[in-house]
Amino acid sequence: MVSKERAGAGSAAEPTDQLALRRANLSRTLRHIRTNGPRSRAAIASATGLHKATVSSLVDELLARRLVREIGVEHSGSAGRPGRGIALSPDVGAIGIEINVDYLAVHGSDLTGRTVIEKRVSFDAKRRDVERCLDDLTVAAQRSLAELTRRGVTPVGLTVAVPGLVDVARGVVVLAPNLGWRDVPVATRLAHGLAPDLWIGVDNDANLAALAEYTWGVAAGTDDLVYLTGEVGVGGGVIVNGRLLRGADGFSGEVGHLPVEPGGDRCGCGRVGCWETKVGLAELVRRATPDAAYGLEQGPIPDPEERVAEVVRRLAAGDRGVAEAVAEVGKWLGHGGAILVNLFNPRVIVLGGYFAELADHLIPSAQANLARLAVASTAARCHFVASHLGFTAAARGGAGVVVERMIEDPTAVALTAPPPLAGVR
Ligand SMILES: [Zn+2]
Repeated sequence: MVSKERAGAGSAAEPTDQLALRRANLSRTLRHIRTNGPRSRAAIASATGLHKATVSSLVDELLARRLVREIGVEHSGSAGRPGRGIALSPDVGAIGIEINVDYLAVHGSDLTGRTVIEKRVSFDAKRRDVERCLDDLTVAAQRSLAELTRRGVTPVGLTVAVPGLVDVARGVVVLAPNLGWRDVPVATRLAHGLAPDLWIGVDNDANLAALAEYTWGVAAGTDDLVYLTGEVGVGGGVIVNGRLLRGADGFSGEVGHLPVEPGGDRCGCGRVGCWETKVGLAELVRRATPDAAYGLEQGPIPDPEERVAEVVRRLAAGDRGVAEAVAEVGKWLGHGGAILVNLFNPRVIVLGGYFAELADHLIPSAQANLARLAVASTAARCHFVASHLGFTAAARGGAGVVVERMIEDPTAVALTAPPPLAGVR
């Protein structure tokens, strides 16, 4: 493998396998730095088994693409002279934007994983048609990208998180019941309003949040976990053996539409008795604070956190009716959780969105019902845990997907300096 290495950024004349090898080695170098922290060229060469001259050339190219930077002198152990440390660069980054029924969430981070932008704004998808939503999404994307740039981070790409079925390869939202979207070409539509070289992805919100949870969350590194979005809709991101489960068409994880109550309430998807009609935020609010239920708003739609804060206030005030309503939602959370345990045997079920904010009140009844209904019950040792990532977990995962793509293929990031000389080893 080493004998086939050639330096250089590549030209049309180079055989494809050499370009692929170069790309793989750039990725390997970048990944090594991400996993192990700043390293000298010599240390990278020694750890990866690549020639020192090859590593120098690879690092030159990564510098030219602004994916790494040189920092102070790094001692690489007893052997050899100390060299300059090569660290991931904070100069390039990515944006994730989540569009949901009642908010837009934005997360911007750089290659090092540092959070640069984190915000959420109220948004009323129900009162906007698809075109208007896409216009607003485009404006939010433009502003976020500009803000990232203003903060000294060049955005390479953006991922939109959507609560629904997404054809990831085409960037099309096939169906998002709670937004009322069907076959919406989000990536193509956004591309019209954004820089032509920007990479634009679209993915399911729960899948992105599950990836964020697996990477940075409270159960990070847990190879079998389920993440549940706690919004008006409820979606699941399922990690099995360290990998996101997507299914044959990429539509797995629609756990909010598990039928749990024959003859129950009508769901946003048109079916009856779906799980989210028992545990979604709209149902919690309807049960706990009926005077503030969804659909009753006269003026601007309240932020979901305001609605949850009101429930928390009434719980703190000792309102028994509210406590019973929350416990009932918790019981249904355990009911669906048991189905997930029977299917996937996860070690943890991570509760996102509003579930996390009410976790102390929801988990006792949820855990009890899960133990009662899951076949493996206590033997499965599955616990509900509250996410720390808050309402921006999906957006964070969206930015993370772009960063992962940069690391997988560093040549997708434009050169800003002349490439290293071809043929130099
Ligand atoms: Zn449904």
